[in-house]
This record gives sequence, structure tokens and C-alpha cells, in this order.
Amino acid sequence: MHQITVGNISIDVVRKDIKNLHLGVYPPSGRVRIATPLKIDDEAVRLFAISKMAWIKKQKIKFETQERQSERRFVSGESHYYRGRRYLLNVIYHKTAPRVEIRKTSIDLYVREGSAREQREKVLTEWYRRQLKEQIPELIDKWQKMMGIEVSDWGIKRMKTKWGTCTNAARRIWLNLELAKKPQHCLEYIIVHEMVHLLERNHNDSFAAYMDKFMPQWHFYKDELNRGILSHEIWSY
Ligand SMILES: [Zn+2]
Repeated sequence: MHQITVGNISIDVVRKDIKNLHLGVYPPSGRVRIATPLKIDDEAVRLFAISKMAWIKKQKIKFETQERQSERRFVSGESHYYRGRRYLLNVIYHKTAPRVEIRKTSIDLYVREGSAREQREKVLTEWYRRQLKEQIPELIDKWQKMMGIEVSDWGIKRMKTKWGTCTNAARRIWLNLELAKKPQHCLEYIIVHEMVHLLERNHNDSFAAYMDKFMPQWHFYKDELNRGILSHEIWSY
């Protein structure tokens, strides 16, 4: 892959054994990518990009607006998600240790008066982490039995572009903290996906066959997860 610049927009160019040029603008930042047949040179790609410039700009503006909208301030009245449901954040000032309580329609965030945005975010993030930590062992246990394989270790971390990863040698899976905001079946889908990597490293036919066998409805969960309406856009794993 290499980059060309058209106007002030940089475009990733990928040459592949394909028949047609393919243009895409991708979330969250509006990255522009053109996949092109091997025999098409950069000058032709450049002309193609110029002919599509109005559309490219429109898509970029769309993502930039979405990005701004998804910026969180952690103040009362904001929408926050937990296990696929939307809650209203309710910031409550108090004098003792910070805590979070989940209610029917709200997430109550108890913090000291005058707490900074970063502190409020941290309290909520740590709460998400604890909730996810409680959910995961049971699910891994269930799928270890169903799949007849073992995970040695697992962890949660913040990842910008991945829902999960797997280190085969250590038989360890990593799950994105953002999954705390998603429905349980989406979390379960990522766990199964990463566990299948212990059987098949690559996203090939054999990988898909394992997914079909263990979780026939996985396509639906994948679509749901990547619709990206619940949080920032994250789209690979
Ligand atoms: Zn994968």
C-alpha cells in the first residue's frame, strides 16, 4: 500500500488482483482508500479520485460530524450505553468515594463536586471494566466446553480499531473495553471469534466454517457490532 495526495486529501492506494477500481471512505476519521487492479497506474487512480472528489468530500464531512457528536463530556443528560441499552447519565455530587449505580433508565455517577471531565470519565470507564470482567469468565467457560479448547489467559484493554485480538502462542485473548457497551451476544461473538483463532489463525474458509459451526448466526452479530451507532466506530478484529 502507498499514498497519493489529491487536493489536500491523502488517499491510500492498494493494488490487488481485482477487475474494477474500488473507492471507500472509512470511519472513524474518514480515511480514503482506493483498491485498484494491478495494471492501473497512479495517474489513472488520481484522475479517478478527482472525478469522485465531491462524493469523497461529502463522506469525509459526514464522518467528521459523527466524530464530533460522539465526543463525550460526562455530564448529566448525556446518553451512555451499557450492554446494548441506552441510559441517561446522571452526575450526582457527593463527598465520599466515587461510584456508579445502574438504574432502570439512568447511570448514576457519584463524584466529588468540581471533578474534572477526565475524573468522571475514569470512574465510569473503570466501572465498565469491572462489569465486563464479571461477564467474561462465564462466557469463556461456556465456549471452552462447547469448542473443546482452552484459553490460558484473557484481558481487557482499550483498542482504537479492534474488537478483540488473540495471541496464539500464549493462547491469550484480548477484548476491547468498548464491548461493555454492547449487547451480551456481541461480546460473546467476539469471544468466539478470538477463540476460533486458536484453531485457525487466518480469516479464511476454514475460519468461517468454524464460525458457522459454533455460532451459525454470527453474521448478524457482526453486522450489529459494526453498525457503529452505539459508540465510536471500530471495525476490525
Ligand atoms: Zn480475527
